[in-house]
Amino acid sequence: MAKKFAAALDGPSGAGKSTVAKTAASRLGILYVDTGAMYRAVGLAALRSGLAGDDRAGIERLLPGLTVMLHHGADGQHVLLNGEDVSGDIRSSQAAQYASKCSAVPAVRAFLLDTQRALAAGQSVIMDGRDIGTVILPDAEVKIFLTASPEARAERRYRELLASGQNVTLAGVRADLERRDEQDRSRAIAPLRQAEDAVLLDTSRLTLEESVEEALRIIFEKTGVRA
Ligand code: C5P
Repeated sequence: MAKKFAAALDGPSGAGKSTVAKTAASRLGILYVDTGAMYRAVGLAALRSGLAGDDRAGIERLLPGLTVMLHHGADGQHVLLNGEDVSGDIRSSQAAQYASKCSAVPAVRAFLLDTQRALAAGQSVIMDGRDIGTVILPDAEVKIFLTASPEARAERRYRELLASGQNVTLAGVRADLERRDEQDRSRAIAPLRQAEDAVLLDTSRLTLEESVEEALRIIFEKTGVRA
């Protein structure tokens, strides 16, 4: 039995976190947790309720009526909002914007924190997000801050959204990413930032395979666990 560990992978939108984390976790045979999906589920609930993104009081009032659960099956992670599988619906740009707005509300972060910590308690995980290394798992054995240039991030996210059938432009995607990053970096609670003990991994010039290899190398260096 390999040693149990947690790897926190934080960084801005579109840096490749989820693809790198998912691939590395599958190579290691451990759980991958996408915490952004949980914020997106709360964002989707706010959007469906007809709330304005900045209606903090309205968002707080929604929380007691919400359950957000992750289900990990053979085909990966599914997010359940009040029991409904919303894994597809949370991927829209609108849900992402709402997620970013909701994630600045302290009650929303408190609402999701225990679930996220509990997932890392009993097993090895690679967890991606914005505050995993700084707030959720400050004692994680591995912390990686994954980033890339704004151009590379916008280009990647644009291709992803096109591939999922969404009607987007590169300029629109870049403006969206920049707005979301600015919100995530400047919020008062758990802002996006590199933990002091995190290794910086810039993927601007790396392919997906190279980025995964580099993440696996860092994990091996910190834990002795090899893929
Ligand atoms: O990673 P993803 O783009 O799916 O995240 C959606 C939004 O959720 C982010 O823009 C961010 O505001 C929020 N988020 C967060 N903390 C996390 C993960 C995501 O605030 N750990």
